[in-house]
Amino acid sequence: MDDLYDKLYGLTPVIINMCRAMCDSSVKANAEHRADAGIKQYIIRRQIGECCEWCEKFAHTYELGKEPKEVYWRHDNCKCIVVCKSGRGYTDVWSKKKFTTYRDARREREQEILNEQKQREFERQIFTTPEVLGTRTPGEWKKYLEEIGFEVKPLNRGMLAGIPFEKGGGFKINFKIDGRYYQYHPEKCSHHNGAYYKVSSGRSGVLRYEMNGKLKKGKRKHG
Ligand SMILES: [Zn+2]
Ligand SMILES: [Zn+2]
Repeated sequence: MDDLYDKLYGLTPVIINMCRAMCDSSVKANAEHRADAGIKQYIIRRQIGECCEWCEKFAHTYELGKEPKEVYWRHDNCKCIVVCKSGRGYTDVWSKKKFTTYRDARREREQEILNEQKQREFERQIFTTPEVLGTRTPGEWKKYLEEIGFEVKPLNRGMLAGIPFEKGGGFKINFKIDGRYYQYHPEKCSHHNGAYYKVSSGRSGVLRYEMNGKLKKGKRKHG
């Protein structure tokens, strides 16, 4: 098992997250309680479509308490589902959402996987084909990014720090790796001649784009 883990970890540039969301403590506490009461609980891991060799190894149903620790792990772009089945239904161990049936849990996870793909696509596009930024207004981007599951927050620095987009502020999202982020800065309080999108990664450094997705020219205005 460790060999496979090392192999996958070594081969992929992405991080295998030791799942932050192990069966959470309340589920665990409950599990102990139920074990006492003689009601068995299960950890069910399945691939949705095909994920990878490593995931395939752990795609089983385990009695709670007899599951390997790896069953809770996921890697970037993982297309698996892991649920805890109890007498009261199913809990997705990663999202912590609760469902009455496995079918419902699976449907929700399928949607999540789809959204994760859209998130990666957006991240890829803004660094490779930033013209895409010109295809939506800032408001439309914010709505779309929230729809596909990004956590969209107000800017946290400058004059507009903490001010919601709806009240004239900007917004930002942070990506998981390489210090990457995407921000919208409205015209108000801009030191860069009007509104702009700011995109940054360790590799690219900071880049600013016009609302039409073209690289922003001109010098910083002081003030
Ligand atoms: Zn996998
Ligand atoms: Zn997987």
